[in-house]
Amino acid sequence: MKKNSIDALMRPKSIAVVGASATPGKIGYTVVKNLLESKFEGEIYPINPKDTEILGLPCFKSVLDVPGTIDAAVITVPAKFMSGVAEECGKKGVKGLIAIASGFSESGRKDLEDEMLEICGRYGVRVLGPNIVGTLSNSDNLNASFAPFLPKKGKAALISQSGALLIAIDASSFSRGVGFDKLISIGNMSDVDFAEIVDWLNDDPNTTCITLYIEGLKEGRRFLEAARRSTKPIIALKSGVSTHGAAAAASHTGSLAGAAKVYGAAFQQAGVIQASDLDNFFDRTLALSLQPGMQGDNLLIITNGGGVGVLATDAAEKFGLPLKFAPPDVQKELKTHMPEFGSAKNPVDLTGMAGNEWYGDSVRYAYAHPWVDGLVILYCETAITNPVEIAQSVEKAIRESGVTGKPISVSMVGGERCDAAIQWLVDHGIPAYGAPGLAVNVMAALREYDQMRKSLAEPIEACGPENRELAIQVIKKARKAGRNSLTEIEAKQVFAAYGMPVTKTELAKSEDEAVELAKSIGFPVVMKIVSPDILHKSDAGGVKVNIQDEAAVREAYQMILANAMDYKPEANVHGVAIQEMAPWGTEVILGSINDPTFGPTMMFGLGGIFVEVLKDVTFRVAPVASNQALHMLGEIRGAPILAGVRGEKPRDQEMLAETICRYSTMILDLDDEISESDANPVLVYEEGKGLKVVDARIILKKK
Ligand code: ADP
Ligand code: MG
Repeated sequence: MKKNSIDALMRPKSIAVVGASATPGKIGYTVVKNLLESKFEGEIYPINPKDTEILGLPCFKSVLDVPGTIDAAVITVPAKFMSGVAEECGKKGVKGLIAIASGFSESGRKDLEDEMLEICGRYGVRVLGPNIVGTLSNSDNLNASFAPFLPKKGKAALISQSGALLIAIDASSFSRGVGFDKLISIGNMSDVDFAEIVDWLNDDPNTTCITLYIEGLKEGRRFLEAARRSTKPIIALKSGVSTHGAAAAASHTGSLAGAAKVYGAAFQQAGVIQASDLDNFFDRTLALSLQPGMQGDNLLIITNGGGVGVLATDAAEKFGLPLKFAPPDVQKELKTHMPEFGSAKNPVDLTGMAGNEWYGDSVRYAYAHPWVDGLVILYCETAITNPVEIAQSVEKAIRESGVTGKPISVSMVGGERCDAAIQWLVDHGIPAYGAPGLAVNVMAALREYDQMRKSLAEPIEACGPENRELAIQVIKKARKAGRNSLTEIEAKQVFAAYGMPVTKTELAKSEDEAVELAKSIGFPVVMKIVSPDILHKSDAGGVKVNIQDEAAVREAYQMILANAMDYKPEANVHGVAIQEMAPWGTEVILGSINDPTFGPTMMFGLGGIFVEVLKDVTFRVAPVASNQALHMLGEIRGAPILAGVRGEKPRDQEMLAETICRYSTMILDLDDEISESDANPVLVYEEGKGLKVVDARIILKKK
């Protein structure tokens, strides 16, 4: 059965309310009342076997008794009646269910949810929910929910995994001055998920900005693809980032919240802006729903007060948009709109004497100047100015400049008159806030948005050929021997099959063989225990480096075996690895996990002891192209070490980026086989001199 599109759920022409009630206080009553109060223009059919009329509308015993067609049915009956209702809706040809009903997977009754899905699947009926508040749309005069009223009119759309938060956002949209066209409650996501609604909103002419409250995604990669496709900014408020929070989110929705760092990486890769908390969510939504992305780093701040100017300057640095001095021509012109003691450098301080005219003239000039990529206007209430008039002259200057496609935000610090001015600006399409740091924070979000979109548009630089056959052979052999992990020698064979440079390594099963191999590899060599039961070889005294001659090989051979016996007498020992000793280089770690939400995911960080202590690592969902990997290298705190500090030459970052690309290809290609892996350390040399993987570990998926 072909699935209906979600159009009927998002923009229904006729709605049945199953479980409608004439008793105030019941959800079935509230939904009918809300549909009427929102002035919904389509047909409304209350369904309840016991009533003949609800809120003045004729009531039907079943959807099957309704004379006309039904696009969407809002379901408010208890979970135990759901399958019966779904069956009737299917027979009636209802296109989608807005399943407000709860008591499904979120409270341990996944069976009821599966049963409903099976029936809906048979008829092609789509399901929003269950366990939702409903859906609201200003442009469709639609409040098919038990939220009290339609939100303040605006251009943002919200998809929320929490119903309570959706109602709270609805209610506070007015006091916060942030408008929404749609509020969509997504609940258990049994059928319709974030990805599908994001795609739909991307085509919706009434939405300019998509906002999400996420506890845990079910199909991470589907979501990432939809987000990448989106031509509209997406803002995500992701909860469950603390370990405690993660547990709470899991029990709340029945879906597991993934690791915060991986979510952060995935959002970045898909061009999704993150909000740090609920306040930040509102602030950023306001700006991204009203303003275009910021296409360069040149932020100009115009203020009438030194204090707020410095606060904004600090914020600019904190949020990654450090201020630069304005070029001479800009300074020269701006100097003409301020008293002698003003400053035109940036922040541009018009001084407390600035009135409507100075504000208007300097904004008109600065906004149109090609050097300026984004403008932040600050205002402190003064005795000689009227904030609303200042707001009006700023808005007029922007309009008259004739320039578009450049973002602006405003902060007005003061009392009630400032609040009124802020609201006036917002109503005229300019995001405005009560504190300078907020106006700057949203500008950083607009800059981040532009950068992420540009990076998404970059052509993907693929990396070299691979030998999958060889890798699979190695893995099969280990599985045949009943193992779930590869030895270092095997792991290096797999890494090498994907084109990563590994140290030459051979297995010696006797002292004499060890000597032969050392001679053929060439001194000095490194010797290591080879045992699937010893994963951390140094801990077992199983690594000897810098072995210079035959006598030392013999001594090390005996010593390593003896240490292993002491460490783990029952360990199955394959022998001793003889390997080429790599010259000293900067130690980094590459690793992979199979994230429950996003699948194969790469990690990169500084290696050795640093990784344990500093946890200075960064993630990307695979695949990671070489050019994207270069961005990763710059993200860790230790980035200057790779770039070359204190007279040291820069490390071979290009080769490192390419190795990350190859590694990510490997984990994606061997997704069915590899559960976790790492290359720790990888020794990275000077620019042009490459790198070497000196230790490798692969843990297989259980089969
Ligand atoms: P472990 O299982 O303890 O992680 P490693 O193979 O990583 O064992 O070896 C421990 C350390 O020895 C490495 O961190 C690295 O500093 C050094 N080392 C290991 N192999 C080599 C090699 N082939 N060349 C140079 N140094 C090496
Ligand atoms: Mg190691």
